Amino acid sequence: MRIRNLTVQFGDLKAVDDVDLDIGRGEVVALLGPSGCGKSTLLRSVAGLEPEARGSIHRGDVDLTKVPVHKRDIGLVFQDGQLFPHRDVAGNIKFGLRMHKIKDTGPRVDELLDLVGLSGYQRRRVTELSGGEQQRVALARALAPRPELLLLDEPLSALDRALREQLALDLARLLRKAGTAALVVTHDHDEAFTLADRVALMRKGKIVQTGTAEQVWRHPVDEPTATFLGCGL
Ligand code: ADP
Ligand code: MG
Repeated sequence: MRIRNLTVQFGDLKAVDDVDLDIGRGEVVALLGPSGCGKSTLLRSVAGLEPEARGSIHRGDVDLTKVPVHKRDIGLVFQDGQLFPHRDVAGNIKFGLRMHKIKDTGPRVDELLDLVGLSGYQRRRVTELSGGEQQRVALARALAPRPELLLLDEPLSALDRALREQLALDLARLLRKAGTAALVVTHDHDEAFTLADRVALMRKGKIVQTGTAEQVWRHPVDEPTATFLGCGL
């Protein structure tokens, strides 16, 4: 995935300001920055949900900006999962498969539930699950059609701290296992460092630095970045 000169302007505000970003096949990239810096807007643009987005987004030779949202081969997970409360766990996951006209969904649902550590949960009502379990179901649903790229917007933010740390580790492991490339938005550097192969630091609409966790931690590009990360310059 190759993003070039991505800009999103709302009135006088450039929420995303001339961003370039690459995501390799199977690579997990964390988009890390303070609240309001434009992370969600960038993610929505990649998903095709931001009408004000300008710039180019290519996957190989395909110009994704010309591809309708449901054909972009992208999975989405939001902060609160956004499951269908009136469907059971299997029903929620199958929804993603039916949209892609995949038949004989039973085995795939079982496989996905194994992957996210919820074997046997097929018939459970989603309203009876914990927040962490609901996020695992949302993840299974997003992975169901085997998307090339997964976009996760603060997927763990609604959970309490201890659970978040555990789930960040689980998520890191299962993204690698699924082999899906992912762009994970977070404002939490620990989470970014746990999850990602590469971290892209965002501030005021711009990506100010990209690198491995170690690179950005040891050599933050400037004072505001060092302060945000809570490490020395
Ligand atoms: P983040 O996800 O990093 O917290 P957002 O991408 O949600 O940041 O927002 C970036 C900036 O763009 C914020 O100042 C926000 O108020 C503004 N913004 C987001 N969406 C809209 C919109 N649809 N119209 C106007 N301003 C918006
Ligand atoms: Mg956001």
